[in-house]
Amino acid sequence: MIRNILITFSLLLFLGLYSFAYVDIVYPSSQNLTINSDIMFFSGNTDSNVKINSNPVKLWENKFFVHTVPLKYGKNVIKITAEKNGKTEEKVYIITRNKLPLNKANPSKNLYKSFSGSILFSKTVKNDSTVRDNPSLAGNRIVDLPKGVNLYFDAKQGNYYKINAQSETSLWIHKSNINNPVEIKTKIKAIVKNINNRSDKHYDYIRFNLSYPVMFTLKQSDNKLKLTLYGIYDEETKNTKNFEYIVDYNSPQLGYDCYYEGNTLIFKKAKLPEIIDDNAPLKGINIFVDAGHGGHEKGTISPERIYEKNINLDIALDLIDLLKASGANVSYSRSHDTKVGLYERVHSAKKNNALISISIHCNSLPYGKNPYEKHGTEVHYYNDNAKILADIINKNIANDLNIKLNGTHKSSFVLTRSTNPVSVLIETAYMINPNEYILLKNGYFRHNIAKSVKKSIEEYILFLRQNKS
Ligand SMILES: [Zn+2]
Repeated sequence: MIRNILITFSLLLFLGLYSFAYVDIVYPSSQNLTINSDIMFFSGNTDSNVKINSNPVKLWENKFFVHTVPLKYGKNVIKITAEKNGKTEEKVYIITRNKLPLNKANPSKNLYKSFSGSILFSKTVKNDSTVRDNPSLAGNRIVDLPKGVNLYFDAKQGNYYKINAQSETSLWIHKSNINNPVEIKTKIKAIVKNINNRSDKHYDYIRFNLSYPVMFTLKQSDNKLKLTLYGIYDEETKNTKNFEYIVDYNSPQLGYDCYYEGNTLIFKKAKLPEIIDDNAPLKGINIFVDAGHGGHEKGTISPERIYEKNINLDIALDLIDLLKASGANVSYSRSHDTKVGLYERVHSAKKNNALISISIHCNSLPYGKNPYEKHGTEVHYYNDNAKILADIINKNIANDLNIKLNGTHKSSFVLTRSTNPVSVLIETAYMINPNEYILLKNGYFRHNIAKSVKKSIEEYILFLRQNKS
């Protein structure tokens, strides 16, 4: 009896709640924000009739919406009303449009401090110590130095030290990457003792035996890589100058790495397997697959609160299966919903001697952009050696899945910056564009993305073999 009453009560409660109008706004995530744009998008889901500032909102699949609102300068009050069975719910958003474009902070020149007479000395204290051409985060990345590199400085600006080196561009490093610099009178002579070559199954190595770890840069151009060691003492001429070493590829470049083992600088470049089977080009190829985000890092969120991390994982798992079935040796960052650090992913790809790294994502859009205009499939790369692969994948996904080609882009992400393996990041489609989001929800579509990526990698491997020197 009590049970029946409880059931009836619950049912009434449920029906009562259900008859209320509701609207769940996913983006923007704050009801009060300031942007520098003439448009704002609202996305969310509902079971009611929704109006934004009295304009009816189009409901996709009868349940979600992505609606843009024009903004005037100053304060914009935006009322979102859900109506169902005569009941309404209202939410108010205050979006302020900036009167003037936001000023980009200009690093001021007068903070520059130069040390006259003496020179400062220190060492990098961690791997991936970034050297930039400008004393700010806005400066271009020149090189990521490993731990233990000896550096000399001749100036300081803010939190950055200027490296004393004969270079076309100035070289700056943030103080967090180095030990507290100490003053010294003269530089210690750096000498290249000898250079030798080695090889193993995956790489060719060039080993520079030095008197101590010196500052270096690597510059990539079409078929060449220029390694520069700074401030090397030449015993014959008794001069100190930069030591340049050109690695000629004469074929599309694969991955490469530069690091220290004690006082030996090791440059290694990846090799293509000797034999590539026309019918099974992926056989024996090491490939790393990365499903973007995971765990509490959800990635972008769809109008129905489906998380990007889950779609990425689904595509990645399909891709892993397809690559394995083609004979590739596949390693991956995650095979379930778990958090993995960005650098952890990169190190895992290196540890597995991957020739190629593929990171899978779905795209998001910043506030102030129009989701109906900006959409499509994109592939991101950072190093020149990944452009060919990026172009092949981008073209194939657009053609195979009949989705707008949004091009390849040079982008500085942790998952694209690594020069080894050849690294690309795929933004398969936009979660905020209704048509593309409906496709991403479809299992066949996701599987076909995986198929298209696998086909692209095959095409890339055959291209590499054809153009091998
Ligand atoms: Zn993502």
